[in-house]
Amino acid sequence: MWFRRDLRLADNPALLDAVAAGDGSVVGLFVLDPLLWDQSGGPRREHLAGSLRSLSESLGGRLVVRRGDPVEVVRALAAEVDAVSVHISADYGPYGRRRDAAVEKALGCPLVSTGSPYAVAPGRVLTQQGSSYRVFTPYFHAWLEHGWRQPVDAPPDVEWVDAKGDRLPSSKVVAGEGAARDQWEAYLDEVAEYGEVRDRPDLDATSRMSVPLKYGEIHPRTMLADLARRRSAGAEGYRRELAWREFCADLLAGHPDAAWKPLRPEFDKMEYDEPGDAFDAWCRGMTGYPIVDAGLRELASTGFMHNRVRMVVASFLVKDLHVHWKFGARWFMQNLVDGDLASNSLNWQWVAGCGADASPYFRVFNPSTQAKKFDPDGEYQRRWIPELGTPDYPEPIVDHAEARLEALRRYDAIR
Ligand code: FAD
Repeated sequence: MWFRRDLRLADNPALLDAVAAGDGSVVGLFVLDPLLWDQSGGPRREHLAGSLRSLSESLGGRLVVRRGDPVEVVRALAAEVDAVSVHISADYGPYGRRRDAAVEKALGCPLVSTGSPYAVAPGRVLTQQGSSYRVFTPYFHAWLEHGWRQPVDAPPDVEWVDAKGDRLPSSKVVAGEGAARDQWEAYLDEVAEYGEVRDRPDLDATSRMSVPLKYGEIHPRTMLADLARRRSAGAEGYRRELAWREFCADLLAGHPDAAWKPLRPEFDKMEYDEPGDAFDAWCRGMTGYPIVDAGLRELASTGFMHNRVRMVVASFLVKDLHVHWKFGARWFMQNLVDGDLASNSLNWQWVAGCGADASPYFRVFNPSTQAKKFDPDGEYQRRWIPELGTPDYPEPIVDHAEARLEALRRYDAIR
């Protein structure tokens, strides 16, 4: 069983297949792929390491972690233990697909793919014409109609076979399947209120399940089954957000270039500024716009940022500083614990107006209005900017009204 973004035993159909394929004994492998590890950024590495430690405990300390090129590592270990087959859950990211095709070619036994990190795998929900959806609401209805299987239990008796591995990276983060389950169960008591509180960063009231979902410490199918038993407007709204995650993955699977290139080709001609001092100020949370700075400082110190604030800071980078979204997307990927190529790039594209079902370009977020509406007492901003209101806090680095007009001028030029 080659674990990747499915660091759990429960509701893991690939693992059930691995157990069923041979005599019930399984080698659990995780490959520390230097290409992904080095690109990941500290917060994601820390969490991954914590999650691997927890998974290894569940395997009686027998998770085999090896560092190296997956093509070589998986082939060598499969040969060493004389594997009948190698089991994975599918990865739909552009790199993951290339890697898995190369591993399959190099292996001396079948590479069996069962399930994916999604309730409905990318590419399954199609329009009547047989193409993928580009607009969320019809996708959402078709996704609901498609449906998904019920969660499955962890296999009862796995004989985990040991093999020589590299040392597990150290981590202080408490992560893994048990922690994810506790977090989710605690949140379920609050999900009924989701619609009222989800846009308020000051209330800190969203689930933060993006993190366990990123590492597959829980499967969305498990969450959807729990939500189906709740029946509240909040649970419905929450299910819709899980569908956004699947829509992003579906779009990226259909358009692998969308990771870093605009989905709408006219945006190839958009005029952007080089990411100079203004971009540095944005990264450091020193733009002089408190809601923007609070978000970027929350990101720097916790590896997380509230969704509403992600939209505000992204809009500010693209439409107030006129910097290409890919620089912001990269900064997010380096700093977010939940950094996920599909959700990140497609949401950046949505904000930047160049995505499939994008927010219209001319709708430019006004940071001050957003702050008044969603952080009405300023509590979130004060939490992250202790020097707010003192001479130590910077003046605004741009004038929002002028910057907005400039953004609209550039947009007119490509329309
Ligand atoms: P909740 O409000 O509790 O939502 C529940 C779950 O629904 C989330 O855990 C997530 O899995 C899903 N979800 C909610 N909103 C979205 C959305 N807009 N798109 C896709 N899935 C969603 N999410 C990531 O997981 N990884 C990213 O790298 C990422 N980058 C983003 C970049 C930008 C510019 C923006 C605007 C959004 C990004 N998001 C990303 C989506 C969203 O901000 C986070 O999923 C959410 O803030 C996570 O917090 P939560 O779990 O408390 O969310």
